[in-house]
Parts: sequence; C-alpha cells; structure tokens
Amino acid sequence: MKNFDLIIIGGGRASNLAIKASKMGKKVAIIEKSKFGGTCPNRGCVPSKLLIGYAHVARTIKESSRHFINSSINNIDINKIFEETNSFISKIDPRYKSRFNENVEVFEGTGKFKSDNIIVVNEEELTAPKIVIATGTRPIEAEHKNAWTSDDIFPLEGEIPKSITIVGSGFIACELANFFSAIGIQTKLLVRSQRILSNEDKDISSIFKEEFSKNVDILFDTSIENIDYSDSKFNLELTNKNGETSKHTSQALLYATGRQANTDTLGLENTSILCDERNYIKRDEYFQTSTQGVYVVGDAAGEHMLQHAAAYEVNHLGKILLEEETEALKFKYMPHAVFTDPEVASVGITEQKAIEENIEYVTSITDWLASAKAMSTRLNYPRTKFIINPNTYEILGCHLIGPDASTMMHQILAVMHLDNDIRHLKEMLYIHPALSEAILPAAVEAVKKVEDFHEHN
Ligand SMILES: Cc1cc2nc3c(=O)[nH]c(=O)nc-3n(C[C@H](O)[C@H](O)[C@H](O)COP(=O)(O)OP(=O)(O)OC[C@H]3O[C@@H](n4cnc5c(N)ncnc54)[C@H](O)[C@@H]3O)c2cc1C
Repeated sequence: MKNFDLIIIGGGRASNLAIKASKMGKKVAIIEKSKFGGTCPNRGCVPSKLLIGYAHVARTIKESSRHFINSSINNIDINKIFEETNSFISKIDPRYKSRFNENVEVFEGTGKFKSDNIIVVNEEELTAPKIVIATGTRPIEAEHKNAWTSDDIFPLEGEIPKSITIVGSGFIACELANFFSAIGIQTKLLVRSQRILSNEDKDISSIFKEEFSKNVDILFDTSIENIDYSDSKFNLELTNKNGETSKHTSQALLYATGRQANTDTLGLENTSILCDERNYIKRDEYFQTSTQGVYVVGDAAGEHMLQHAAAYEVNHLGKILLEEETEALKFKYMPHAVFTDPEVASVGITEQKAIEENIEYVTSITDWLASAKAMSTRLNYPRTKFIINPNTYEILGCHLIGPDASTMMHQILAVMHLDNDIRHLKEMLYIHPALSEAILPAAVEAVKKVEDFHEHN
C-alpha cells in the first residue's frame, strides 16, 4: 500500500490542485486514464474553439457580398487545419505532466475505489486522508460502431470526410456543424424536435434558429431510423415527426447527443459515496461526498459542466484542503457562450425560468444598431435581452446574440460581480462607437421597464 497526503482521480482541471499541493510539500498521487489536461484542452473547449477561427474566416469571405465585396474562396487546406489542431493536442499531455514536481506521483491508468479510502490503479493500492474525484464526463455513445462522437475528431486521424451528418441540437452539435459547413464539408444537422439550443432563452434560440439555418443545412423533427454502413459511407434512413421517411448518405456520422458521467469507472459500489439518479456524485457545499475525506469537483458533480466552473471549484477546493478556507463557494452567476455563427452568450435565468418559478421580473430586448461598430457588421439580428428584478434593479438574466457576444457579456458580468445593479450599465461611460456601446440602449430600455413597473404597481 502506498501512502499519500492527497490522491486525485482525474487529471483534467484538478491537475492544478496536484501542482498547488505538491508545491506546499504535500505528497500527491494523480491518476489519469487518458490524457493529462482532460477534456478541455485535449478534446473539448480549446480544440473546438481553434476550429471556430477557421470557420469564422471562411464565413467572412463567403458573406462578403453583404458589404458589396465580391470574393470567393480559392482553396481551403482542410488537411492543414486538422494537422495544426492535432499538433496542438499532441503537446497537451506532455506539457501537463511536465508541470508536476517530484512530490507528485503520476499513475497512468484507471483509478477504482476498493473501499472508502483505498484506490487501486494498475494493481497498486494507494491511500490518503484526502481523495478528490475529478473524473469529468464522456460523450454519450454513438449509435453505430463506425460513427463518431466529439472525442473521435480530437485528434482527427485518417481521411477527412467530404460529407458529415451531425446528430444533436446542443452547443457541441452546433459548434461542430458550424465549423464543418463553413470549411466546405457537406454538412447536415439532424435535430429531433423543432428547437435548437433549447436551454437558451426562447427569444434568443428562435433568432439563432433563423440565422443559423442560413449557414447550416438542418433537418428539424428528424431522427435516424436505420443506419447501413457500406463502402465507407453511412446510408441513413431518416424519419420525421409525420412518420415520413427519406434517405441521406454521408461519409461521416457524428453523434453530439449529450454527455454522461465517468462515475461508472470508479468502483463506487465498494464505497459509501452516493450518486444522483443521473450518476453524478452528490456532495455538500464544501465539495465533500457522502464519504468523509472524499471530495468531488468539476463535471463529475454534474452541476455546471463548464470549464470555468471546474477551474473555480478546483481552486476553491485547494483553499479548503490546503489553506483552511472555511467559506463554501457560492457562484453568484454562471455564464456560458456558444461559439457559433451567430454567437450566443448568456448568464442567469431565462424568461421561461422566471415564469416557471414565479419570479417577479421585467424584460427588455434591444437591437444593437445604436452602435456604429455594430451597424458596420450589416447584421440586423443581434440583440440584448435583459431580465431584471424590478424591486432591486438586479440583473437576473442577460442573453446576447451577435458578433463577439461572449466578449460583450463580460461588461455585464463585471457589474453582476460587483453590486449587480443594471443602472451602472446605463450610467457608465462607453467608448463611442465601440461594439460594447450596444449595451447602453439595452440598459436604458431595461431601466425604463423597471421605472414603468414602479409607475404601474
Ligand atoms: C467538444 C466540447 C467543447 C466544450 N466547450 C466548452 C467551452 O467552450 N466552454 C466551457 O466552459 N466548457 C466547454 N466544454 C466542457 C469542458 O470541457 C468541461 O466542463 C471541463 O473539461 C470539465 O473539467 P473536469 O476536470 O471536471 O473534467 P475533465 O476535463 O473531463 O477531466 C476528467 C479526467 O478524468 C479522467 N478519468 C475519468 N475517469 C477516470 C478514472 N476512473 N481513473 C482515472 N482517470 C479518469 C478522464 O480521462 C479525464 O481526463 C466542452 C466540452 C466538449 C466535449
């Protein structure tokens, strides 16, 4: 049996905890069954966003006629795009491993609980007074052995397909469909219902649907009835909600239908650690599982499923375990973005949620055309939607759709991070005529809605 001060299972975001603890002289074991760095830099956020850069340039050229510029793409070196992306990915695992000092023992294999405080990896038994589970998630499996999930394209090895069918309607499906179609790979997105990005505010997802459908070939209300894979092609029989069938063929088929917890790999049946009905590990507000001394952070807890949330949690757990932090981490807000064309960014509640939960609110939705920089994009769809508590001026939700929405969102996040009063966004000084200036009329309108509310109540 090997003894440590801290054992970490999962070398994604929690690698940073190993680094911190080891620098403080703790003896740390870190166990990773795949690649250090985890999902985000190897097969998630980073490579998928590297692809968006190529898609964006291709779209800008394709859409240049909006600016009365007649241009066309001569050639896209798709092999080079994947070579670059694959080369980036290949450096992640060694780079992460090189950051560990001599106090960290690295175990490459699957970590499994033998009991509440004994972990087995590669037939070795390890124990520590503190164990951290940071095992993340993996894609829900594809429905055919030759079909892909997002894990199979990062890195993409072998021949690059000339056509691809993507199943799904969430952000991963949309980001990948956006990329493949922009670089000229014949792309079809299959969406089971009429809604796409259905977790977004309805006003935003309906604008998204209209604009995104101009770029990407989408079949709504459609699912795959039958898959025949022959001659390196998927021959798909599709069915729609009226029961009508059609045929579609593509070289690649990619499922982006959701993620599942990796908790089934952990031998939790040998412990008193409890999971919820979706197999995510239950925890208290200090990240402690139902077993004392065993903690869970990041996607494995199934709460936010975002890299910035995992990073915050790992950082805070480090303070609890190593610096005697006694405060629990309470996220005041949790933003996210969808890096498609159009781009979407969102924080806080949607209007549907406000209605469902009977929360008192006022709302405004404003275009971006008061900003000359926004006008210069010659796009009419960008919008800012605010959901405001009319009694306190608190921003309950903000939803943006438009160029650089994820960047634009940060000025709203700064206000929410401080005392969260929409009036700051109305009163602050903006650079004229920056894109961000589009937030000013939106804030003016939202504050007016609050004042109207007071007048009538
Ligand atoms: C295509 C894609 C795009 C994304 N884009 C974004 C984005 O734009 N913004 C954003 O915020 N988030 C994004 N995410 C989500 C983000 O990647 C995750 O929220 C984040 O990586 C979670 O970090 P984690 O450390 O909890 O888990 P992970 O990074 O998944 O790390 C868990 C690690 O544990 C290992 N492991 C699992 N079980 C065991 C075991 N039994 N023994 C040993 N090791 C084990 C896994 O191999 C993995 O390396 C994206 C995800 C995907 C798939």
